[in-house]
Amino acid sequence: MSGLIQPDQIARIDRIIDKYANFIITTHVNPDGDGLGSEVAFAELLRQRKKTFSIINNNPVPENYRFLDPNQQMEVFNKDRHIELLTSADVLFILDISDWGRLRELGELVRELSLKTVCIDHHPVQEPFADVDIIYPEASSTGELIYELLKGLNARFTQRICEAIYTAILTDTGSFRFTNTNPAAHRIVAELLEAGINPQKIYSNVYENQSLARVKLMARVLGGIQLEYDGRLAWMKITQQMLKETGATLKDTEGLADFPRSIAGVEVALLFMELEDGKVKISFRSKGNVVINGLAKEFNGGGHAFAAGASTDGPLDTVIPNVLQRAAALFENRPA
Ligand code: AMP
Repeated sequence: MSGLIQPDQIARIDRIIDKYANFIITTHVNPDGDGLGSEVAFAELLRQRKKTFSIINNNPVPENYRFLDPNQQMEVFNKDRHIELLTSADVLFILDISDWGRLRELGELVRELSLKTVCIDHHPVQEPFADVDIIYPEASSTGELIYELLKGLNARFTQRICEAIYTAILTDTGSFRFTNTNPAAHRIVAELLEAGINPQKIYSNVYENQSLARVKLMARVLGGIQLEYDGRLAWMKITQQMLKETGATLKDTEGLADFPRSIAGVEVALLFMELEDGKVKISFRSKGNVVINGLAKEFNGGGHAFAAGASTDGPLDTVIPNVLQRAAALFENRPA
């Protein structure tokens, strides 16, 4: 299978793994299946190469992904607890993320330390920031890139690696529905199935493991959907009050932004979420005809052409009309 990652990049990673002993692996805030699956698969490679490693993230592993980390080896970053470990580490592998902002406090600390950094990602990047960047936006997922890397480095594809990569590709392609679903994703997954993974078990772990609070929140959020621009834009909001009343938390909101795309005629979906500190997180989704990361950038965010995000100052009631107004440009000269 011809891949995206060039042989010289694989050789470079090989040399880095050979040369150094202590590694840290991390991914973005609010880690998802692609970030976590990629971490687990890459960590297994380091284990096979008899290296010392820690996986440190800004947030705990969401419940539906805990099956990827049965021994609870993933740690939640705490500056006091981890400063020594980070100071003595040789290399930080940053997966599924290509800006310092989404590494939060961990990113700030890493910049102060002289840690070598390697970034492996599929997000479009304006300015690569690591010492070594392996960034291919045409990849379906970071999991696809990790697969290529592990193949290139002759890793043994254990059940754990296969399940982790499958989870990464499954979740980031929206179960093979999104525009990033490519032939490689299917080829890799076919090979993982041949290796004996159980897709029903993984599906059940990821998608049939929701809290009652999440389902109650979903009912509230979906009940409040509003349409604009002749039904081409759908938007929804989540307030702190709604979280409180349903008992849901931030992690219960993953994937909610995708729902309005299922409505006939809707091209773009926006989810506005009021955060505890009063800021507003916006998720932008598109069915694939309207590019929305430009709009996300107007609010200091970014992301993929058809799935992007931003975090901006509140209050919610000011942000919503402001974003909706700016969204008008998306539909200009574009007959319904
Ligand atoms: P989300 O709506 O949080 O699921 O994010 C969708 C995508 O948008 C992510 O995969 C990121 O590529 C990107 N993204 C989300 N939040 C931000 C942000 N604050 N800044 C830049 N990119 C973001």
